[in-house]
Amino acid sequence: MSRPSQFAVFGHPIAHSLSPRIHQAFAQQFGIALEYRTIDAAPSVFADAVRHFFSEEQGRGANVTLPHKSSAFALADERTEAAARAGTANVLTRLADGRLAAHNTDGAALVRDLTDRHRLDLRGHDTLLLGAGGAARAVAWSLFEAGVQTLTIVNRSPEAADALADAIGEPARVHTRYWEDLGNIGSFDLIVNATSAGTLGQALTLPLSLVGSRAVCYDLGYGASAFGFLAWARATGALHAYDGLGMLVEQAADAFQLWHGKRPDTEPVYKSLRTQGA
Ligand code: NDP
Repeated sequence: MSRPSQFAVFGHPIAHSLSPRIHQAFAQQFGIALEYRTIDAAPSVFADAVRHFFSEEQGRGANVTLPHKSSAFALADERTEAAARAGTANVLTRLADGRLAAHNTDGAALVRDLTDRHRLDLRGHDTLLLGAGGAARAVAWSLFEAGVQTLTIVNRSPEAADALADAIGEPARVHTRYWEDLGNIGSFDLIVNATSAGTLGQALTLPLSLVGSRAVCYDLGYGASAFGFLAWARATGALHAYDGLGMLVEQAADAFQLWHGKRPDTEPVYKSLRTQGA
């Protein structure tokens, strides 16, 4: 019997990752036998670990999470437009000739979670994006292309926000503001927290005035890392407050489709993770 196809998620730390469960659940939908494991690689050995996985172990595809998304982008032989815009990759795929392709499915995943799962029509939404790191860069483009009316990017380090807005290059719809000015920039219909503050165990201090009367608040983090932002959102009276679990499942579905050419049904997997308290 042939060995099941090789897949993995690289991160540091990585033991907490839900990706193996998600990919195994998708594989079960199609009767695919899958070997999908976590690979904990410190930044200094990441590139070597990736090369070993794809060349020595015949790896076919890998997910990549913190802190390796920029390195994954840099070491790939070719990159999709979404990855190039973000400057990061969350998926690596071995091509038929052995070269590695970098993809970034985070932005599309957020938009699908908001529009398909949470039934939000993004058109016309004045949107605040907190953060300008790799995930923020991915989701900014996708939110813009999904038709938000305006996108205001605010980052602790303002240069990164300015660079992102300049890259999108639509000053009539995409602006930046200083973090210190959050208290006087008005209110928004959609607020997306793409900072890693929650993941790092740091609290964000955000003014209540940001939240419009029917605002939706979304934290890219999930589990405990999203608790602080979601508690703030609920305290402001936001219409809805969502975490990034749906986005996580959606980005995995995109990776699964890239590797297996089949589109999994994300809803049962999302519901199962939610029921299990993820
Ligand atoms: P990066 O390290 O690339 O960027 C971190 C961002 O957070 C930067 O903009 C940084 O600002 C900001 N930041 C960090 N700490 C603070 C703080 N205390 N106050 C204000 N801003 C802060 O991380 P990523 O962009 O890759 O990831 C961001 C988050 O998104 C993570 O929590 C990650 O887990 C989550 N994520 C979730 C996904 C999902 O599928 N649900 C997919 C991808 C990411 P500065 O530039 O000033 O340092």
